[in-house]
Amino acid sequence: MRDTYDITIIDTGYVRPGLCAAYLVVENGRAALIDCGTASCAQRVLDAIDAAGVAREAVDWLLVTHVHLDHAGAAGPLIQALPNARLVVHPRGAPHMIDPTRLIAGAKAVYGEVAFARDHGGMLPVPEERVVVADDGHVVDLAGRALLCVDTPGHARHHYSVWDARSRSWFAGDTFGLSYREFDNGNGAFILPTTSPVQFDPQQLHDSIDRLLAQSPASIHVAHYGEVGECERLAADLHAQIDAMVAIARAAQGHDDRHARIVDGLAALYTWRAREHGIDDAAVRVREILDGDIELNAQGLGIWLDRDAK
Ligand SMILES: [Zn+2]
Repeated sequence: MRDTYDITIIDTGYVRPGLCAAYLVVENGRAALIDCGTASCAQRVLDAIDAAGVAREAVDWLLVTHVHLDHAGAAGPLIQALPNARLVVHPRGAPHMIDPTRLIAGAKAVYGEVAFARDHGGMLPVPEERVVVADDGHVVDLAGRALLCVDTPGHARHHYSVWDARSRSWFAGDTFGLSYREFDNGNGAFILPTTSPVQFDPQQLHDSIDRLLAQSPASIHVAHYGEVGECERLAADLHAQIDAMVAIARAAQGHDDRHARIVDGLAALYTWRAREHGIDDAAVRVREILDGDIELNAQGLGIWLDRDAK
């Protein structure tokens, strides 16, 4: 469904419906795709481009906010299928799109071989001549519509966010946290940060969230999942939870069962916040919807603790 700013959300189908979005932005008959799911999602994304009435030849740009595979894994097959598209990627991510060997190894370490094979479907290299490196402030020209790439580390050092002045909106990848529509209620959206492995940095993430807010956005498109308004309230929620998550991790440091303690602490934190948000069966809903994210956040916090201790 295309909105007033010619932005279409695409459900990449990664793991479950409503988990992982890509966005198609159309201007003067030309298109840019922002994020694209894993390699397993490539056909679904192509089908959605077709369904939006956009010719494959009309896609000029594929922007990946960062090179985690649920955002960039499909870039290889999509660059093959979209003959005029060029891949726009953060300077720290570009080498890994051209040679994905280390990304694949990293994803297998995080998700395990079985889940990697099931949900990721490998990865293809992107030819170097189709890659455009987006330094901070890089502007992608989509048929006259400027898409500004702004360095936003904290979730990952290879992360930029995309400012679309026309819609006064960000495409923030994972920098502005996770906000699943299942938690929407009369109090609005529910949000939590993602600290998934391996480059979480709390101070950088605080600073990047402030950088997004400085534009006074009308809305923010997050990858997991969809468009959120009320940016100031949600930013405050994210800041508070980053601090709470860091405190949970620090309290678990030095214990043999550190990971289990972080998992339990995060589950309790999100349950409490979901209850505050007005969700009645908060404990059940958090377990149903956030189980995978709690595991990834706990892994990422553990890796950050080990790095911080050095
Ligand atoms: Zn990510």
